Amino acid sequence: MAFYTRGKLSFPGGVHPPQSKDLTRKSRIEAGPAVKEVAVMLSQHIGAACQAVVKKNDEVRAGDKIGDSDAFVSAPVHSPVNGKVKQIALESHVVVGRSPAVIIEAAAENNPAKQPLLKFDGEFDENRYSPEQVCDAVREAGIAGMGGAGFPARVKLEPNPQMPKETLIINGCECEPYITCDYRIMLEWTKQIIAGTKLARKASGCSEVIIAIEDNKRRAIRAMSEALVACGGDGIKVVSVKTKYPQGGERQLIRAVLKKNVPTGGIPPMIGVVVVNVATAAAIAEAVVYGRPLTHRVVTVTGEGVANTGNYYVPVGMRVAELIEHCGGLTKDAVRVILGGPMMGIAIADLTTPITKTTGAITVLTKEQVGGAKFAGRETACIRCGRCLEVCPEHLNPTKIAHAVKNDMLELAESYYISACIECGCCGYVCPANIELVGYIKTGKVVLAGRKKKVGG
Ligand code: SF4
Ligand code: SF4
Repeated sequence: MAFYTRGKLSFPGGVHPPQSKDLTRKSRIEAGPAVKEVAVMLSQHIGAACQAVVKKNDEVRAGDKIGDSDAFVSAPVHSPVNGKVKQIALESHVVVGRSPAVIIEAAAENNPAKQPLLKFDGEFDENRYSPEQVCDAVREAGIAGMGGAGFPARVKLEPNPQMPKETLIINGCECEPYITCDYRIMLEWTKQIIAGTKLARKASGCSEVIIAIEDNKRRAIRAMSEALVACGGDGIKVVSVKTKYPQGGERQLIRAVLKKNVPTGGIPPMIGVVVVNVATAAAIAEAVVYGRPLTHRVVTVTGEGVANTGNYYVPVGMRVAELIEHCGGLTKDAVRVILGGPMMGIAIADLTTPITKTTGAITVLTKEQVGGAKFAGRETACIRCGRCLEVCPEHLNPTKIAHAVKNDMLELAESYYISACIECGCCGYVCPANIELVGYIKTGKVVLAGRKKKVGG
Protein backbone atom coordinates (compact mmCIF):
# COMPACT_ATOMS: atom_id res chain seq x y z
CA MET A 1 0.00 0.00 0.00
CA ALA A 2 1.40 3.41 -0.96
CA PHE A 3 1.33 6.14 1.63
CA TYR A 4 3.33 8.73 -0.28
CA THR A 5 1.78 11.43 -2.46
CA ARG A 6 4.04 13.47 -4.72
CA GLY A 7 3.11 16.99 -5.60
CA LYS A 8 4.06 20.59 -6.08
CA LEU A 9 1.97 21.68 -3.16
CA SER A 10 2.86 25.21 -2.14
CA PHE A 11 1.59 28.65 -1.09
CA PRO A 12 1.74 32.12 -2.68
CA GLY A 13 4.75 34.30 -1.87
CA GLY A 14 7.81 33.14 0.06
CA VAL A 15 11.50 33.06 -0.80
CA HIS A 16 14.29 30.60 -1.55
CA PRO A 17 17.24 31.39 0.73
CA PRO A 18 20.35 29.16 0.45
CA GLN A 19 19.63 25.93 2.34
CA SER A 20 23.00 25.56 4.11
CA LYS A 21 21.80 22.28 5.62
CA ASP A 22 24.79 20.25 4.42
CA LEU A 23 26.74 21.29 7.51
CA THR A 24 24.61 18.98 9.68
CA ARG A 25 22.20 16.92 7.58
CA LYS A 26 24.38 13.82 7.91
CA SER A 27 25.10 14.35 11.62
CA ARG A 28 23.40 11.66 13.68
CA ILE A 29 21.74 12.74 16.91
CA GLU A 30 24.33 12.45 19.70
CA ALA A 31 23.96 12.85 23.45
CA GLY A 32 25.23 16.27 24.50
CA PRO A 33 27.91 16.69 27.17
CA ALA A 34 27.35 16.22 30.88
CA VAL A 35 26.09 19.41 32.53
CA LYS A 36 27.08 20.80 35.94
CA GLU A 37 24.06 23.04 36.15
CA VAL A 38 20.80 23.72 34.33
CA ALA A 39 18.62 26.85 34.37
CA VAL A 40 15.07 25.79 33.55
CA MET A 41 13.03 28.84 32.55
CA LEU A 42 9.60 29.07 34.15
CA SER A 43 8.35 30.70 30.96
CA GLN A 44 8.94 28.26 28.10
CA HIS A 45 5.94 28.69 25.84
CA ILE A 46 3.01 30.81 24.71
CA GLY A 47 0.57 31.35 27.60
CA ALA A 48 0.96 31.80 31.33
CA ALA A 49 4.39 31.35 32.90
CA CYS A 50 4.75 28.70 35.61
CA GLN A 51 5.32 29.29 39.31
CA ALA A 52 8.11 27.31 40.93
CA VAL A 53 6.87 24.36 43.01
CA VAL A 54 10.34 23.73 44.49
CA LYS A 55 12.57 25.92 46.64
CA LYS A 56 16.25 26.47 47.30
CA ASN A 57 18.10 23.34 48.54
CA ASP A 58 15.30 20.91 47.51
CA GLU A 59 16.63 17.63 46.10
CA VAL A 60 15.09 16.81 42.70
CA ARG A 61 15.11 13.71 40.50
CA ALA A 62 15.13 13.82 36.69
CA GLY A 63 11.51 14.17 35.59
CA ASP A 64 10.25 15.82 38.80
CA LYS A 65 7.88 18.71 38.26
CA ILE A 66 9.54 22.00 39.28
CA GLY A 67 7.04 24.56 37.98
CA ASP A 68 3.33 24.64 37.12
CA SER A 69 0.39 26.98 36.55
CA ASP A 70 -3.40 26.79 36.97
CA ALA A 71 -3.92 28.72 33.73
CA PHE A 72 -5.59 26.85 30.86
CA VAL A 73 -2.95 27.91 28.32
CA SER A 74 0.17 26.71 30.08
CA ALA A 75 2.32 23.61 30.58
CA PRO A 76 4.42 22.49 33.56
CA VAL A 77 8.22 22.32 33.57
CA HIS A 78 10.34 19.46 34.94
CA SER A 79 13.90 18.90 36.04
CA PRO A 80 16.02 17.24 33.33
CA VAL A 81 18.60 16.01 35.87
CA ASN A 82 19.02 14.59 39.34
CA GLY A 83 20.36 17.33 41.59
CA LYS A 84 19.72 20.10 44.06
CA VAL A 85 17.91 23.43 43.58
CA LYS A 86 20.58 26.10 43.89
CA GLN A 87 18.25 29.07 43.56
CA ILE A 88 15.33 30.57 41.69
CA ALA A 89 16.66 33.62 39.90
CA LEU A 90 16.34 35.79 36.81
CA GLU A 91 18.11 34.45 33.73
CA SER A 92 18.46 35.74 30.16
CA HIS A 93 15.34 34.89 28.20
CA VAL A 94 15.46 35.03 24.44
CA VAL A 95 12.07 36.73 24.08
CA VAL A 96 11.33 38.70 27.24
CA GLY A 97 14.83 39.79 28.27
CA ARG A 98 15.11 38.38 31.79
CA SER A 99 12.76 35.90 33.40
CA PRO A 100 12.70 33.59 36.44
CA ALA A 101 14.34 30.17 36.18
CA VAL A 102 14.91 27.23 38.51
CA ILE A 103 18.68 26.69 38.69
CA ILE A 104 19.66 23.13 39.56
CA GLU A 105 23.12 21.78 40.40
CA ALA A 106 23.31 18.49 38.56
CA ALA A 107 24.50 15.25 40.12
CA ALA A 108 26.76 13.02 38.01
CA GLU A 109 24.19 10.23 37.81
CA ASN A 110 22.02 10.08 34.60
CA ASN A 111 24.13 12.77 33.04
CA PRO A 112 24.41 13.08 30.06
CA ALA A 113 20.96 11.78 29.28
CA LYS A 114 20.27 8.80 27.09
CA GLN A 115 18.22 9.37 23.97
CA PRO A 116 14.54 8.39 24.01
CA LEU A 117 13.63 4.79 24.62
CA LEU A 118 12.80 4.00 21.00
CA LYS A 119 10.81 0.86 21.76
CA PHE A 120 8.20 1.58 19.14
CA ASP A 121 8.66 -1.42 16.88
CA GLY A 122 5.80 -3.20 15.17
CA GLU A 123 2.22 -1.96 14.91
CA PHE A 124 1.36 0.66 17.46
CA ASP A 125 -2.21 0.52 18.76
CA GLU A 126 -3.31 3.92 20.02
CA ASN A 127 -6.68 2.48 21.02
CA ARG A 128 -5.15 1.34 24.30
CA TYR A 129 -5.49 4.96 25.36
CA SER A 130 -8.59 7.16 25.61
CA PRO A 131 -8.50 10.74 24.23
CA GLU A 132 -8.62 12.02 27.83
CA GLN A 133 -5.66 9.86 28.81
CA VAL A 134 -3.63 11.20 25.90
CA CYS A 135 -4.55 14.84 26.66
CA ASP A 136 -3.80 14.42 30.38
CA ALA A 137 -0.43 12.75 29.71
CA VAL A 138 0.52 15.47 27.22
CA ARG A 139 -0.38 18.17 29.74
CA GLU A 140 1.43 16.51 32.64
CA ALA A 141 4.54 16.02 30.48
CA GLY A 142 4.66 19.77 29.81
CA ILE A 143 4.66 19.37 26.04
CA ALA A 144 4.67 22.62 24.10
CA GLY A 145 5.08 22.89 20.33
CA MET A 146 8.75 22.20 19.61
CA GLY A 147 8.76 23.70 16.11
CA GLY A 148 9.26 27.20 17.49
CA ALA A 149 5.84 28.62 18.35
CA GLY A 150 5.65 26.77 21.67
CA PHE A 151 1.88 26.49 22.01
CA PRO A 152 0.94 24.06 24.84
CA ALA A 153 0.11 20.81 23.00
CA ARG A 154 -2.78 19.74 25.24
CA VAL A 155 -4.68 22.93 24.38
CA LYS A 156 -4.11 22.27 20.67
CA LEU A 157 -5.26 18.66 20.77
CA GLU A 158 -8.16 18.79 23.20
CA PRO A 159 -11.59 18.50 21.52
CA ASN A 160 -13.53 21.75 21.38
CA PRO A 161 -17.24 21.46 20.44
CA GLN A 162 -17.17 25.03 19.06
CA MET A 163 -14.31 24.17 16.69
CA PRO A 164 -14.38 20.44 15.83
CA LYS A 165 -11.12 19.24 14.31
CA GLU A 166 -11.10 17.24 11.09
CA THR A 167 -7.53 17.26 9.78
CA LEU A 168 -4.28 16.71 11.63
CA ILE A 169 -1.14 17.85 9.80
CA ILE A 170 2.20 16.61 11.13
CA ASN A 171 4.73 19.26 10.17
CA GLY A 172 8.05 17.87 8.92
CA CYS A 173 8.92 20.83 6.69
CA GLU A 174 11.77 22.45 8.65
CA CYS A 175 12.03 25.23 6.08
CA GLU A 176 14.50 27.45 7.99
CA PRO A 177 17.99 27.37 6.46
CA TYR A 178 20.74 25.53 8.39
CA ILE A 179 18.46 23.59 10.80
CA THR A 180 18.29 19.77 10.55
CA CYS A 181 17.07 18.57 13.97
CA ASP A 182 13.61 17.62 12.66
CA TYR A 183 15.14 15.95 9.61
CA ARG A 184 17.34 13.76 11.82
CA ILE A 185 14.39 12.98 14.11
CA MET A 186 12.39 11.83 11.07
CA LEU A 187 15.26 9.51 10.05
CA GLU A 188 16.19 8.21 13.49
CA TRP A 189 12.98 8.30 15.58
CA THR A 190 10.59 7.48 12.73
CA LYS A 191 8.36 4.96 14.51
CA GLN A 192 8.15 7.16 17.55
CA ILE A 193 6.76 9.98 15.37
CA ILE A 194 4.17 7.62 13.93
CA ALA A 195 3.13 6.44 17.41
CA GLY A 196 2.83 10.11 18.47
CA THR A 197 0.87 10.92 15.32
CA LYS A 198 -1.64 8.15 16.06
CA LEU A 199 -1.98 9.37 19.64
CA ALA A 200 -2.49 12.96 18.46
CA ARG A 201 -5.19 11.70 16.08
CA LYS A 202 -6.83 9.85 18.96
CA ALA A 203 -6.78 12.92 21.21
CA SER A 204 -7.98 15.40 18.60
CA GLY A 205 -10.60 13.18 16.95
CA CYS A 206 -9.33 14.08 13.47
CA SER A 207 -10.42 11.76 10.64
CA GLU A 208 -7.72 12.83 8.19
CA VAL A 209 -3.99 12.73 8.99
CA ILE A 210 -1.25 14.06 6.71
CA ILE A 211 2.49 14.08 7.35
CA ALA A 212 3.89 16.97 5.26
CA ILE A 213 7.60 17.08 4.38
CA GLU A 214 9.47 19.43 2.07
CA ASP A 215 10.70 17.80 -1.15
CA ASN A 216 14.36 18.50 -0.33
CA LYS A 217 14.15 15.78 2.37
CA ARG A 218 13.72 12.70 0.18
CA ARG A 219 15.27 10.33 2.71
CA ALA A 220 12.83 11.49 5.38
CA ILE A 221 9.88 11.11 2.99
CA ARG A 222 11.00 7.56 2.21
CA ALA A 223 11.68 6.67 5.86
CA MET A 224 8.30 7.92 7.03
CA SER A 225 6.45 6.23 4.15
CA GLU A 226 8.19 2.87 4.73
CA ALA A 227 7.62 3.05 8.47
CA LEU A 228 3.91 3.68 7.89
CA VAL A 229 3.79 0.42 5.92
CA ALA A 230 5.66 -1.41 8.71
CA CYS A 231 3.65 0.13 11.57
CA GLY A 232 0.21 -0.07 9.97
CA GLY A 233 -0.35 3.46 8.66
CA ASP A 234 -4.09 3.12 8.94
CA GLY A 235 -5.08 6.01 6.66
CA ILE A 236 -2.16 8.28 7.51
CA LYS A 237 -0.47 9.63 4.39
CA VAL A 238 2.80 11.37 3.64
CA VAL A 239 2.79 14.29 1.20
CA SER A 240 5.78 16.13 -0.18
CA VAL A 241 5.46 19.91 -0.38
CA LYS A 242 7.59 22.29 -2.39
CA THR A 243 10.80 23.48 -0.75
CA LYS A 244 10.19 27.13 -0.07
CA TYR A 245 10.47 29.39 2.97
CA PRO A 246 8.26 29.70 5.14
CA GLN A 247 6.61 26.43 4.09
CA GLY A 248 6.68 25.24 7.71
CA GLY A 249 4.52 28.15 8.91
CA GLU A 250 1.17 26.71 10.01
CA ARG A 251 -0.89 28.97 7.80
CA GLN A 252 1.34 28.40 4.76
CA LEU A 253 1.36 24.63 5.29
CA ILE A 254 -2.43 24.47 5.52
CA ARG A 255 -2.71 26.54 2.34
CA ALA A 256 -0.28 24.25 0.54
CA VAL A 257 -1.71 20.92 1.67
CA LEU A 258 -5.43 21.60 1.96
CA LYS A 259 -5.86 24.68 -0.25
CA LYS A 260 -7.69 26.34 2.62
CA ASN A 261 -6.98 29.75 4.16
CA VAL A 262 -6.89 30.35 7.89
CA PRO A 263 -8.77 33.66 8.41
CA THR A 264 -6.57 36.73 9.01
CA GLY A 265 -6.00 36.99 12.75
CA GLY A 266 -7.54 33.52 13.18
CA ILE A 267 -6.19 30.11 14.20
CA PRO A 268 -6.19 26.74 12.36
CA PRO A 269 -8.92 25.11 14.52
CA MET A 270 -11.36 27.71 13.10
CA ILE A 271 -11.20 25.74 9.86
CA GLY A 272 -10.99 22.33 11.55
CA VAL A 273 -7.22 21.88 11.34
CA VAL A 274 -4.54 21.16 13.93
CA VAL A 275 -0.82 21.25 13.09
CA VAL A 276 1.76 19.38 15.19
CA ASN A 277 5.52 19.40 14.62
CA VAL A 278 7.35 16.04 14.17
CA ALA A 279 9.49 16.50 17.30
CA THR A 280 6.33 17.27 19.28
CA ALA A 281 4.72 14.09 17.94
CA ALA A 282 7.73 12.08 19.14
CA ALA A 283 7.50 13.74 22.57
CA ILE A 284 3.77 12.88 22.74
CA ALA A 285 4.59 9.19 22.24
CA GLU A 286 7.23 9.31 25.01
CA ALA A 287 4.81 11.05 27.35
CA VAL A 288 1.82 8.78 26.80
CA VAL A 289 3.57 5.42 26.51
CA TYR A 290 6.40 5.91 28.99
CA GLY A 291 5.11 8.79 31.15
CA ARG A 292 8.29 10.69 30.33
CA PRO A 293 8.07 14.49 30.62
CA LEU A 294 9.62 16.83 28.08
CA THR A 295 12.99 17.54 29.65
CA HIS A 296 15.33 17.17 26.66
CA ARG A 297 15.31 18.07 23.00
CA VAL A 298 17.44 17.82 19.87
CA VAL A 299 19.33 21.03 19.04
CA THR A 300 21.22 21.63 15.78
CA VAL A 301 24.49 23.49 16.38
CA THR A 302 25.46 24.97 13.04
CA GLY A 303 26.82 27.83 10.99
CA GLU A 304 30.24 28.82 9.68
CA GLY A 305 30.98 30.60 12.96
CA VAL A 306 31.24 27.47 15.14
CA ALA A 307 34.21 25.08 15.04
CA ASN A 308 32.22 21.82 14.82
CA THR A 309 28.59 21.33 13.96
CA GLY A 310 26.10 18.59 14.84
CA ASN A 311 22.75 17.52 16.26
CA TYR A 312 22.69 17.04 20.04
CA TYR A 313 20.15 15.64 22.47
CA VAL A 314 20.49 18.02 25.42
CA PRO A 315 18.65 18.94 28.61
CA VAL A 316 16.27 21.88 28.56
CA GLY A 317 18.05 24.46 30.72
CA MET A 318 21.56 23.77 29.40
CA ARG A 319 23.36 27.03 28.66
CA VAL A 320 24.14 27.95 25.05
CA ALA A 321 27.82 28.61 25.90
CA GLU A 322 28.31 25.05 27.19
CA LEU A 323 26.96 23.47 24.04
CA ILE A 324 29.05 25.78 21.84
CA GLU A 325 32.11 24.88 23.90
CA HIS A 326 31.33 21.19 23.40
CA CYS A 327 31.37 21.93 19.66
CA GLY A 328 34.88 23.39 19.81
CA GLY A 329 33.90 27.01 20.46
CA LEU A 330 33.33 29.96 18.15
CA THR A 331 35.61 30.71 15.20
CA LYS A 332 37.64 33.93 15.17
CA ASP A 333 35.29 35.60 12.70
CA ALA A 334 32.05 34.61 14.46
CA VAL A 335 29.93 37.68 15.13
CA ARG A 336 26.34 36.56 15.59
CA VAL A 337 24.86 33.75 17.68
CA ILE A 338 21.22 33.09 16.84
CA LEU A 339 18.74 30.90 18.70
CA GLY A 340 16.93 29.32 15.76
CA GLY A 341 17.76 29.89 12.12
CA PRO A 342 18.86 33.04 10.27
CA MET A 343 15.37 33.93 9.02
CA MET A 344 13.22 33.78 12.16
CA GLY A 345 15.76 33.18 14.89
CA ILE A 346 16.72 35.74 17.53
CA ALA A 347 20.32 36.91 17.95
CA ILE A 348 21.57 36.73 21.53
CA ALA A 349 24.36 38.67 23.20
CA ASP A 350 24.39 36.66 26.45
CA LEU A 351 25.65 33.11 25.83
CA THR A 352 24.58 32.00 29.30
CA THR A 353 21.01 32.04 27.91
CA PRO A 354 19.43 28.63 28.61
CA ILE A 355 18.03 26.31 25.94
CA THR A 356 14.24 25.98 26.14
CA LYS A 357 11.69 23.51 24.79
CA THR A 358 11.43 25.58 21.60
CA THR A 359 15.16 25.96 20.86
CA GLY A 360 15.69 23.90 17.71
CA ALA A 361 19.05 25.35 16.76
CA ILE A 362 22.01 27.52 17.62
CA THR A 363 23.25 29.14 14.40
CA VAL A 364 26.51 31.07 14.43
CA LEU A 365 27.24 33.42 11.54
CA THR A 366 30.52 35.06 10.57
CA LYS A 367 31.37 38.69 9.95
CA GLU A 368 31.35 38.15 6.22
CA GLN A 369 27.90 36.57 6.30
CA VAL A 370 26.25 39.41 8.19
CA GLY A 371 27.80 42.14 6.02
CA GLY A 372 30.81 43.30 7.97
CA ALA A 373 32.14 45.68 5.30
CA LYS A 374 31.74 49.29 6.34
CA PHE A 375 28.64 50.23 4.38
CA ALA A 376 27.35 46.81 3.40
CA GLY A 377 23.86 46.35 4.71
CA ARG A 378 23.34 50.09 5.24
CA GLU A 379 19.66 51.05 5.13
CA THR A 380 18.70 53.40 2.30
CA ALA A 381 15.40 54.91 1.18
CA CYS A 382 12.61 52.69 -0.13
CA ILE A 383 12.67 52.65 -3.92
CA ARG A 384 9.10 51.32 -4.13
CA CYS A 385 10.13 48.25 -6.07
CA GLY A 386 7.29 46.21 -4.58
CA ARG A 387 9.41 43.12 -3.94
CA CYS A 388 8.39 42.95 -0.29
CA LEU A 389 4.72 42.80 -1.33
CA GLU A 390 5.39 40.04 -3.84
CA VAL A 391 7.01 37.71 -1.32
CA CYS A 392 4.82 38.34 1.72
CA PRO A 393 3.00 35.05 2.35
CA GLU A 394 0.32 36.89 4.32
CA HIS A 395 -0.42 39.35 1.48
CA LEU A 396 0.51 42.35 3.61
CA ASN A 397 2.14 45.60 2.58
CA PRO A 398 5.34 45.48 4.67
CA THR A 399 6.68 48.83 3.50
CA LYS A 400 3.50 50.68 4.45
CA ILE A 401 3.38 49.00 7.87
CA ALA A 402 7.05 49.78 8.54
CA HIS A 403 6.58 53.39 7.44
CA ALA A 404 3.59 53.77 9.78
CA VAL A 405 5.56 52.32 12.72
CA LYS A 406 8.57 54.54 11.99
CA ASN A 407 6.31 57.59 12.16
CA ASP A 408 4.50 56.40 15.30
CA MET A 409 1.21 56.01 13.42
CA LEU A 410 0.28 52.74 15.06
CA GLU A 411 -3.44 52.99 14.34
CA LEU A 412 -2.54 53.19 10.68
CA ALA A 413 -0.26 50.16 11.08
CA GLU A 414 -3.18 48.30 12.64
CA SER A 415 -5.37 49.21 9.69
CA TYR A 416 -2.69 47.55 7.52
CA TYR A 417 -3.06 44.36 9.64
CA ILE A 418 0.28 44.56 11.45
CA SER A 419 -0.93 41.82 13.83
CA ALA A 420 -1.32 39.38 10.91
CA CYS A 421 2.43 39.48 10.21
CA ILE A 422 3.99 36.09 11.03
CA GLU A 423 7.46 37.68 11.30
CA CYS A 424 8.91 35.36 8.67
CA GLY A 425 11.41 38.00 7.46
CA CYS A 426 10.80 37.36 3.73
CA CYS A 427 10.19 41.08 3.10
CA GLY A 428 13.50 42.21 4.59
CA TYR A 429 15.31 39.34 2.88
CA VAL A 430 14.46 40.67 -0.59
CA CYS A 431 14.57 44.39 0.13
CA PRO A 432 17.27 46.05 -2.04
CA ALA A 433 17.26 49.05 0.31
CA ASN A 434 18.24 46.82 3.29
CA ILE A 435 15.28 48.08 5.30
CA GLU A 436 14.81 46.02 8.48
CA LEU A 437 11.11 45.67 7.74
CA VAL A 438 10.39 42.88 10.22
CA GLY A 439 12.32 44.77 12.90
CA TYR A 440 9.96 47.76 12.54
CA ILE A 441 6.96 45.43 12.50
CA LYS A 442 8.06 43.61 15.66
CA THR A 443 8.67 46.94 17.40
CA GLY A 444 5.23 48.17 16.34
CA LYS A 445 3.59 45.04 17.73
CA VAL A 446 5.38 45.35 21.08
CA VAL A 447 4.48 49.06 21.45
CA LEU A 448 0.86 48.37 20.52
CA ALA A 449 0.62 45.51 23.02
CA GLY A 450 2.08 47.78 25.73
CA ARG A 451 -0.39 50.57 24.97
CA LYS A 452 -3.34 48.16 25.00
CA LYS A 453 -2.20 46.76 28.33
CA LYS A 454 -2.09 50.28 29.80
CA VAL A 455 -5.56 51.11 28.51
CA GLY A 456 -6.90 47.82 29.89
CA GLY A 457 -5.25 48.59 33.25
S1 SF4 B 1 5.24 41.51 6.52
FE1 SF4 B 1 5.48 39.88 8.01
S2 SF4 B 1 4.50 38.11 7.06
FE2 SF4 B 1 4.89 39.60 5.43
S3 SF4 B 1 6.90 39.04 4.61
FE3 SF4 B 1 7.26 40.60 6.16
S4 SF4 B 1 7.68 39.44 8.02
FE4 SF4 B 1 6.70 38.00 6.59
S1 SF4 C 1 11.36 45.77 -0.97
FE1 SF4 C 1 12.31 47.48 0.15
S2 SF4 C 1 12.70 49.02 -1.42
FE2 SF4 C 1 11.25 47.57 -2.32
S3 SF4 C 1 9.20 48.41 -1.84
FE3 SF4 C 1 9.70 47.02 -0.19
S4 SF4 C 1 10.65 48.34 1.37
FE4 SF4 C 1 10.70 49.49 -0.55
